[in-house]
Amino acid sequence: MEYDQILRLLIGTRLGERLSSIQELFSQLETAQKRFQEVFCIGCTEGCGSCCEHFYPNITNLEAEYMALGLMFEGRDQQILDMIHNTDKEPSSCPLYRKDTSYHCSCYAIRPLVCRLFGMAVSKDKEGRPAFRNCRWNERKIEISKEDLELNRKVLVTMSDFGMELEYLQPEDPKTYPLLEVLERAIYKIRFLIHMESDPEPEPNAS
Ligand code: SF4
Ligand code: SF4
Repeated sequence: MEYDQILRLLIGTRLGERLSSIQELFSQLETAQKRFQEVFCIGCTEGCGSCCEHFYPNITNLEAEYMALGLMFEGRDQQILDMIHNTDKEPSSCPLYRKDTSYHCSCYAIRPLVCRLFGMAVSKDKEGRPAFRNCRWNERKIEISKEDLELNRKVLVTMSDFGMELEYLQPEDPKTYPLLEVLERAIYKIRFLIHMESDPEPEPNAS
C-alpha cells in the first residue's frame, strides 16, 4: 500500500489528526533548530552517533504510533517486529542504532522527540533561565554564555517547551515507555486500524 493511501485512510480519525499534528510539530522543530544552529554555530561531530550507542529512549504512545506508521509506509514494519522479538528487552544501547546508516539511526526520519532534541536544544536552570550543555561526546567544544542565550532568546529551542507541545497532543496519555515495548504495540495497533479502514465489514444486506 502506498504512503498516500495509508494517510488517506486515517484522515478524519482522531489518531490521523494527532499524527498530522506530531508531524507538524517535528517540522516546526526542524526549522527552529536550523535557525538555532546558525545563530550559535553549533553542530555535532561529523559522523558521530555516540549518543545512540549509550542511550535507550523512552517514548510516548503517540510517538510510537508515528514511528509505526512511518515503518508501514516504508514496508519495514515486519522487519522491525522481528528485530524487537529477537532483542534483549533492556538493551544498553538503542536497538535502532545502525553504524552503517545515515546519521546512524535506522529510523532517523521518524525518530522520537528526545532524539531530535539531544545536543541541539537548551534546558532551563533553577531560575527558569536558558542553559546550554554541550553533548559530552561532541568533539567540538561549544560553550554559549548565559548572556548570549538571553540576547538571542527568540531563536532558542527549549526542551521543556517542545516536551509540553508533545504532551498537549495526547494529554490523557503523556507517559513514556521503553521504545521497543511501545513500538511493538503501536505497530500492531496501526496495522489493525489500517486493516479496519481499508477492509471494513460489509454492510448487512438490506434486502
Ligand atoms: S531512535 Fe534513532 S536517534 Fe533515537 S536513540 Fe535510537 S538510534 Fe538514536
Ligand atoms: S549529540 Fe553528541 S553524541 Fe550525538 S551525534 Fe551529536 S555530537 Fe555525537
